[in-house]
Amino acid sequence: MSRARVWAGRAGDYRDPGLRDAVATALEAVGGRDLFRGGARVFVKVNHLSPPSPPERAIVTHPTFAAAVLAVLKDLTPHLTVGDDLHPSADDPYALSGYREVCAGLGVRLVNLRETGFVRVSVGGVVLKETYLAREAVEADLVVNLPKLKTHSLTLFTGAVKNLYGLLPGGLRVAYHGEYKDPEAFGQLLVDVYAAVGPALTVMDGVVAMEGPGPANGRPRPLGIILAGRDGVAVDAVACRLIGLDPLAVRTTRYAHDRGVGIGDLTGIDVVGERLESLVAGDFELPPFPAGELVGRAPRFLTRWATSQLAVRPAVVRRACVGCGACARVCPTGAATVVGGKARIHRRTCIRCMCCHEACRYGAIALRRSALGQILRPVLRRPRRAGP
Ligand code: SF4
Ligand code: SF4
Repeated sequence: MSRARVWAGRAGDYRDPGLRDAVATALEAVGGRDLFRGGARVFVKVNHLSPPSPPERAIVTHPTFAAAVLAVLKDLTPHLTVGDDLHPSADDPYALSGYREVCAGLGVRLVNLRETGFVRVSVGGVVLKETYLAREAVEADLVVNLPKLKTHSLTLFTGAVKNLYGLLPGGLRVAYHGEYKDPEAFGQLLVDVYAAVGPALTVMDGVVAMEGPGPANGRPRPLGIILAGRDGVAVDAVACRLIGLDPLAVRTTRYAHDRGVGIGDLTGIDVVGERLESLVAGDFELPPFPAGELVGRAPRFLTRWATSQLAVRPAVVRRACVGCGACARVCPTGAATVVGGKARIHRRTCIRCMCCHEACRYGAIALRRSALGQILRPVLRRPRRAGP
């Protein structure tokens, strides 16, 4: 396999007037500009998540970051559409996140993928032979992927590969969580989706990342980093290195690398722009999911056992719960319910997919370790850190 190229650069914050120039430089450096010749129809997948949230919580790809990318793309093609799959709600989810204003200002079409529909596609993957993908992405000439650099309590890390899971209908995403409970199968499924979409370009928002129990309940962590590349797996690998995580300890990166979908091994990636070492974030807090650290470092049976025994469980923080029911709506097994205005989680039917944790915007789903996980935590924390 040929080598991958990833551009890594700095941005002070979202008010940085150099943001757009940095994105333009990134595209030039990774050969991204050539892709848009002839006025290609482009679908831009942002990481929005639903329920919606304001950009300062660092759950969504920041609209100002997206605006910088869109402004550069607009010079290359007029056919731009931005979107994600969002739950219907009385309020406009894109108004809260800031996307409505940004896209209106730029004259760029903004869609809720739930309203523009999905089409059946052949995947031919390891897990999925066929599935449904957003029509906007399937019918576009190119997909540009704008993930947010975040931790993830189920998959350790969410970036370029995981972001494209949002191109599936919400109900199907929930069903897959229930059907493919085994983290290995689910990781392969995510790679299946990424490979089927085949994004042409990834530009990652690491200006303010999320650390701790992401992707929706962690803490914003300013890193001032932008990454770009035509190989999203390589972008994920570099992002992991910058937050101190061994890239190949992340299932999606390892599986994509092993399958030749992209390059996840840093030795096969040329990083251009800033020197990688100068961008490394010290003491970045990783999510409390120790079993993931064993991926690629221990026999498969041991990884499976560790996952079942040590992975954290969701637990309701009753005083924070407002009874909105978002957790129950996304739960694939019915383990999360709302009774008497407070959420409840039925332990025996919970498959620890963390969808409820991702959906709750009130910090009312905490992650708890088993007693064994608590004891082994110091041992398990060590190996997942990347080398200096
Ligand atoms: S746990 Fe969170 S998502 Fe579930 S009902 Fe309570 S506030 Fe809503
Ligand atoms: S309770 Fe939460 S973690 Fe458990 S199955 Fe339901 S959504 Fe997944």
